[in-house]
Formats: sequence, structure tokens, C-alpha cells
Amino acid sequence: MIIVMKPEATKQQLDRVLTKLATVGLKVHLSEGSTRTIIGVIGDKRFIAQMPIEAMDGVEKMVPVTVDYKLVSREFKQENTIVDVGGVLIGGSHLVVMAGPCAVESREQLLQSAEIVKKAGAQFLRGGAYKPRTSPYAFQGLEVQGLEILAEAREKTGLKIVTEVVDVDSVSVVCDYADMLQIGSRNMQNFQLLKTVGKTNKPVLLKRGLSATINEWLNAAEYIMSEGNYNVVLCERGIRTYEEYTRNTLDLSAVAAAKNISHLPIIVDPSHGTGRWELVAPMSRAGIAAGADGLMIEVHPNPAEALSDGKQSLTPENFTILMQEITSIAGIMGKTLA
Ligand code: PEP
Ligand code: MN
Repeated sequence: MIIVMKPEATKQQLDRVLTKLATVGLKVHLSEGSTRTIIGVIGDKRFIAQMPIEAMDGVEKMVPVTVDYKLVSREFKQENTIVDVGGVLIGGSHLVVMAGPCAVESREQLLQSAEIVKKAGAQFLRGGAYKPRTSPYAFQGLEVQGLEILAEAREKTGLKIVTEVVDVDSVSVVCDYADMLQIGSRNMQNFQLLKTVGKTNKPVLLKRGLSATINEWLNAAEYIMSEGNYNVVLCERGIRTYEEYTRNTLDLSAVAAAKNISHLPIIVDPSHGTGRWELVAPMSRAGIAAGADGLMIEVHPNPAEALSDGKQSLTPENFTILMQEITSIAGIMGKTLA
């Protein structure tokens, strides 16, 4: 349920409504727009249905939310959310590029990657220190040593670090090193993990689950926000379909749909979305044209020697060309790569 206050409502009238809701244990989220305040009520609807809230001074109306995620929805907050990651803004007119190797493989490989993506204009360095691999025998990541290397790359380049948290136990150590926590596709419905990152104050990049519907994905974002962390960025990374030529089917209609029904920023990962390096540039261009607020791109100094996802990783040269191309498309879409 959403309570819309009148534009002229006073602070006292608002406080009276909030006190009333608190007496029955309902949680609230305030959205203070330029003209009026909107109260998002979280909790058992039956309590509020019995309350004469609409009769209270300063209240314009009560509106039921038609979707089961509230904090995520545009019904609740009309303005686009801009997530601030240590001064780098994601959303609105800001285009963000997160780039780097699939995994942190060694100090040399990662520092080299950082230099490459920084020089080409990316604002974030990506790279998994904990790798959720399909096979238990595949490279699993350097773990804490990988996080230390990522932090060193940040020191050297000023790039922000985004890296994956694979379980509840690793959240606190990853928070010590990263600027942004990534929830991978395989963990999109790990509700315990979502709640744990929701209790931190780190921005979260939430990838769409391998076979998740848009509704399930937005509900996963709601899990994080319902714990008090509103700094969530969505990431479309392709879904499982019958198509085998590509690793996944990159669902760009989900970008447009998520923009309509949610105020959260959304970026596109065409690397995991296609699994083929030669499709990364065209799908990056299409993603920005579809309204995405940024891209996540796998780049490796030498893709042929990558320990994971070499087939979908761009060479330094191809990444540099891509950055030039997207700068002009971003301009057409009213965004700048700051
Ligand atoms: C990744 O970005 O490192 C990754 C594993 O991607 P996904 O979770 O989308 O498969
Ligand atoms: Mn990868």
C-alpha cells in the first residue's frame, strides 16, 4: 500500500501518520519527491485496511500497489534512482562501464587488465575472486588473495571495484575490499545472501538469474531493499532458452520492461549474454539504445589464455574500439560516460 500525502501536508501531519502505522508494527519507506511525500507501507496489508488513514489530515489518498515488489516499483517511486558508488554515479544521464577479466588469475594479469580498461575509459574494474563454476574441477578463484589484488588495482588506477559474493560467509570480507558487491546469476534467488547484502551499506549489482522471470528478478531486488539497502543496480545477462548458438539469450526487452516498471538503474552484460566475443560490440550498442544505464564487459589481456570465459572476452584493442562507439551512442541517448 502507498499513502500519498497532499503537497501542502505539514511535517506534523506526516509524523502523525507514521506514528499511527508504527503502532501496529508496519514498516515504512519514505519517498520525498519535489512536490509531495509518498509513504510506502511494508507489512501485513490487513492492518492498514482497518485503519482510517485516508481520514487523517494531510493525506491525499491510499493506493494499493499492484505488484508484489514495492520498493523496487515505479508505482512507488517515479524518479529514476541514481546509485552513487564512491562518487561514480549509475543511472539518470550517467553511463557506466564495468570491465575486466572474468576472474582474477594473477597480479600481473589483473593489473594489466586494470590499465587497459582505465585507459579505454571504463569507471569500474570487474573480476571474480570467488568463482561459481559449473564444474567443481574448474578454476575456483584466488579468493582473499584475489581481493587483495583488486584493491591494489584500485590504488593504482582509481577504478572502482565490483566483484562477486558467492555466499553469506564471504560478504564481510568482500565488503572490506570492494566498492560494489555483485550477486551472480546462480545466486539470484539465494534469499539468505540477498538479505545479508541488504544489511550492508555497499551498492549491489544484481544479475538476472539463469532462468528467472522479470518478476522473480525484481522480487530478488526487493529482498535486498527490504533490508534497508536501496543501492541496487540490475544487470541483464541473458537467460536460458532453447537456442544453443549463443551461450544465453540476451533479453533486451527486459531492459525496456524493467525501466518501465522499476526506477532502479539497469546495465547489460553482453559477454555472458552471448558467450561470443564477436557479438559483444553489437549487443553493447543495442543495450545502450534500449535504454541501459551501462555495460559490464569481459576484457582480457590475452583471451586465448584466459582461465575462464576467454571465448567471450574482448581483446584490449577491441574493447578500446567499443568504448569509442558507445560514447557516440550514449550521446544520442542523452547519456554521458563520465
Ligand atoms: C560474472 O560476471 O563473473 C559471472 C559469473 O556472471 P553470471 O553470474 O552472469 O553468470
Ligand atoms: Mn565470466
